[in-house]
Amino acid sequence: MRHEGLLGATFADGGVGAGYAEGKVLIVKLGDRDLEPEEYHVRPDNEITGWAHVCSCGWRGTHWRRAATPRDQDLPARRVWSPHPSPPMDTIDLISGHEYGEHIAPVRDDVLASLPHLPADRALTAVGQARELGASWTDIATAAGLTPEDAHARWQHAPVQVFTRRHGAQLAALTRLCTPAD
Ligand SMILES: [Zn+2]
Repeated sequence: MRHEGLLGATFADGGVGAGYAEGKVLIVKLGDRDLEPEEYHVRPDNEITGWAHVCSCGWRGTHWRRAATPRDQDLPARRVWSPHPSPPMDTIDLISGHEYGEHIAPVRDDVLASLPHLPADRALTAVGQARELGASWTDIATAAGLTPEDAHARWQHAPVQVFTRRHGAQLAALTRLCTPAD
């Protein structure tokens, strides 16, 4: 199970948007279902009703509603105003930071705990996964019983997928669907 987190714009019917351009939002998820790339479509960004951090595994963070006006903003009630399709910069950490970190931590710990028991080739993959999930070289070294220098020397070429096929498909769709026709 991959864990790819996304701070998504939400819509009244459960649609989740992953990118914005030209007043449009690219919808990549409906409810808990990730859409296939050929199902991606766009909606006007003024239909955004809020924001939530979502994960490809189905996990979903607390929903923040979009306030109708600046005066309606109420952060303790998780109602935030933004004139843009993205939430204000200073609330992004509030919306997505801590909860997602807590969601990912046990997954990362499981990967780290498996390290000492894996054959070399699978250990390399596991180190890459741990890095994707935010583990430091110190975390990896401690789990493997090595010094950070030795851990880095052994696994520095572990494959880390920062940019996944899903990201690539979303970027292509954003260009195709949200760029104005000439
Ligand atoms: Zn997840």
